[in-house]
Amino acid sequence: MKKKITIFGSTGSIGLSTLDIISQHNDKYEIVGLSINNNYEKLLEQVSIFKPKIVSIKDTNSFEKFKNRNTLKNLKILNGSDSFDEILNFETDIVVAAITGSAGLLPVVGAAKRGITIALANKESLVCSGSLVTALAKKNGSMILPVDSEHNAIYQVLDIKNKQNVSKLILTASGGPFLNKITEELEHISPEEAIKHPNWTMGKKISVDSATMMNKGLELIEAHYLFDMPHDKIDIVVHPESIIHSCVEYSDGSILAQMGNPDMRTPISYTLAYPNRIPTRVEKLKLSEIKKLTFYEPDLLKFPCLELAYSSLKIKKSAPTVLNAANEIAVDAFLNKKISFLSIHKIVEKTLNKASISDINSIKDVVEIDTESRSIATEFLTNYRI
Ligand code: MG
Repeated sequence: MKKKITIFGSTGSIGLSTLDIISQHNDKYEIVGLSINNNYEKLLEQVSIFKPKIVSIKDTNSFEKFKNRNTLKNLKILNGSDSFDEILNFETDIVVAAITGSAGLLPVVGAAKRGITIALANKESLVCSGSLVTALAKKNGSMILPVDSEHNAIYQVLDIKNKQNVSKLILTASGGPFLNKITEELEHISPEEAIKHPNWTMGKKISVDSATMMNKGLELIEAHYLFDMPHDKIDIVVHPESIIHSCVEYSDGSILAQMGNPDMRTPISYTLAYPNRIPTRVEKLKLSEIKKLTFYEPDLLKFPCLELAYSSLKIKKSAPTVLNAANEIAVDAFLNKKISFLSIHKIVEKTLNKASISDINSIKDVVEIDTESRSIATEFLTNYRI
């Protein structure tokens, strides 16, 4: 029996890597549904190769164009993000949640409600919803397998049945493209420079998050909810080579690490094949060629986003939701050349200070807090326009 896969965000970086793995193993997997924002030309290609039963296109203009050019018979074509639920009504074994930002929350919630296994690439959905998503998944027997390379690494080496023996989770961080720049040099960074990551090929938003190190801050919060570990038992270490993808430290002094070339096809394939493993086209790591690996403490003064993420995790409640929403607005404004690179953390900080922090009891609360935080952050943008 082939495993049935639905991908939310099939034309993004994670979606493309997932389809690369599936094209190599079409005896094991079949595509049921694909959902995209607006890249309908890419979707036309994907549909002709993978022959899904249903597709969803968020952008109405792209939806019309796709419909006019599609030649696959019996394909159900939906428009708008409220079509997530309809896709999930098609039988699916694994949902690959690869939409960036809090926009990716609803398909994750939909899959969790239905007890479907989730290959989770959308870290924002865990960051913004507190323990709601993990609790919902647990209640309905939905397994969350992390795609994020750090969390995937921890998942591989964490002895979950004997968690009392775990003393620490250690998240590694590449440090991004500006690790060796001084703060003054960061003022005039362009979006083009910020999205050039030294080791990983990723989407634009996550690349900027990596450059501000907010990505590691979001991952800290993600690790807290995913592995139910207190914030003071999660460390971050800068490891510029991105060979060790994260580690677990045990009470006896052992540290178990997962290593590999930095290529998302390794963690994605792990989630698709779990608990087995399948071959990928990822180049194998040659340790004798690497020779040395280096590790540093993160510089919280140079990367204030990391500090903001730490403090919002200490506050908890809706603070991480606010942090995430403000960051999405600020990063989008930076990518559109409306604010400078160094204004990103200022907008996040001001929004955190202004927003009222409350308990999160439902997904409706999350959506409301997310919307409100976005409008607060949008107001602050005007103070920092360039
Ligand atoms: Mg990561």
